[in-house]
Amino acid sequence: MEESRNCRFVVDAMLKNIVSWLRILGYDTIYWGGGDKEVLSIAEAEGRIILTMDRSLAAIATRRGLRVLLFQENDIPEILARIARELDLSLSFDPIYTRCPVCNHPLKLEHKSGREEWMCPRCSKKYWRGSHWRNISRTLEEARKRLQALRHDLQNFKYLR
Ligand SMILES: [Zn+2]
Repeated sequence: MEESRNCRFVVDAMLKNIVSWLRILGYDTIYWGGGDKEVLSIAEAEGRIILTMDRSLAAIATRRGLRVLLFQENDIPEILARIARELDLSLSFDPIYTRCPVCNHPLKLEHKSGREEWMCPRCSKKYWRGSHWRNISRTLEEARKRLQALRHDLQNFKYLR
């Protein structure tokens, strides 16, 4: 499963709020707020999967042989679940693989007086499981539930066929 953490993403402007979630889960994710042309060339040059809500961008990317996932609504647990299903990714938090939500650099895990702390070697930000952690784990749990539901639907669909 860890192989799948090699998946890299470029996210377009409309899905900006998914960026930090993918980074927390350990996926190399960049955000591009500029034009479609740049999104396409970044995806091409760096082998990144495009995440977008823009139908025409998705169509152009597909024509160029790039991997793209198109979303209709901006709902974080739903988007995470769909990405995980399409690409067979893990939705569990791994303290070793997590990345800086702000700058995307892999975080360095440190143990300080019995608690886990993460330091970003690039932007020097520090993270720990503070009060916000409850919300993070709740969202990830919701995403895993949706993933199970998606897989279940898919099985039923196969069965019906
Ligand atoms: Zn950072």
